[in-house]
Amino acid sequence: MPGLLCLVPTPIGNLGDISPRAREALTSADFIAAEDTRVTRKLLNYLELKKPLVSYYEHNKHESGPKIVERLLEGQTCALVSDAGSPAISDPGENLVRLCADAGVTVCAIPGPCAAITALSISGLPTGRFCFEGFLSTNKKNRQQHLDGLRGESRTMIFYEAPHKLRQTLGDLEAAFGAERAISLCRELTKLHEEVIRTTLSGARTLYSEQEPRGEYVLIVAGAAPEAPEAPTEEQLLALVREQMAQGLSRKDAVKAVSKQTGCAKNALYDAALKADNS
Ligand code: SAM
Repeated sequence: MPGLLCLVPTPIGNLGDISPRAREALTSADFIAAEDTRVTRKLLNYLELKKPLVSYYEHNKHESGPKIVERLLEGQTCALVSDAGSPAISDPGENLVRLCADAGVTVCAIPGPCAAITALSISGLPTGRFCFEGFLSTNKKNRQQHLDGLRGESRTMIFYEAPHKLRQTLGDLEAAFGAERAISLCRELTKLHEEVIRTTLSGARTLYSEQEPRGEYVLIVAGAAPEAPEAPTEEQLLALVREQMAQGLSRKDAVKAVSKQTGCAKNALYDAALKADNS
């Protein structure tokens, strides 16, 4: 009988955010797969728990993943944790979940801390529709392609960023979305120096040209405003007036109806219609 892989979220700053269910999952697991065993050991010390740890991180996932699945197929239970937040969200874990699903091992996820959702909820920007964009690539070409693909994005966008790359990223976001686009910079969430800066992309650039970025950041960027429909050309407006006149309206009433329908200026349209009929 295959065992179980349980994704266990851990605090993103405040240790008090570990939930009773997360604690229980760590307690009952046969072993814990951790991104950085030193970081997880600190959490286990806080919880007064002793558990066998194996390391599972970005650069060993191809060797470590199949070994973990082997143990799960023997019936063991594994709790997967990352350094902070929800495993598999911009964190190692995605591959392990896939391996388990393919091998017929049950995967469960305990809901809990996630920097992206915590930041979105306090950003003050629309939360009805959003997209998670994670970290922008450090490769210039991939980064540009990523941002180009987001130019028309109307949903609120969520980015992760490290402090030493923040200035560059703010500059790139401003180049892609314009100086006036709203942004909420959410830093050090759940920690002593938690701060939310609600400004524009140019405001954020100015701010961080004067002060050093510090701590961990989630950037919440407003989506593009819906494009205004293109105004009809004079030719199209005159065609509409002719249609109305063909149905029996006088020129004056036809112009009035078209002006009401399209929002165009009545007097200018009347003059244009008169001129067109007399030419
Ligand atoms: N899996 C994690 C989650 O659920 O949020 C994200 C891991 S990702 C490797 C780390 C990034 O998350 C950081 O670079 C930062 O952008 C964001 N982050 C993590 N903790 C944060 C915090 N306390 N405040 C603000 N951002 C945080």
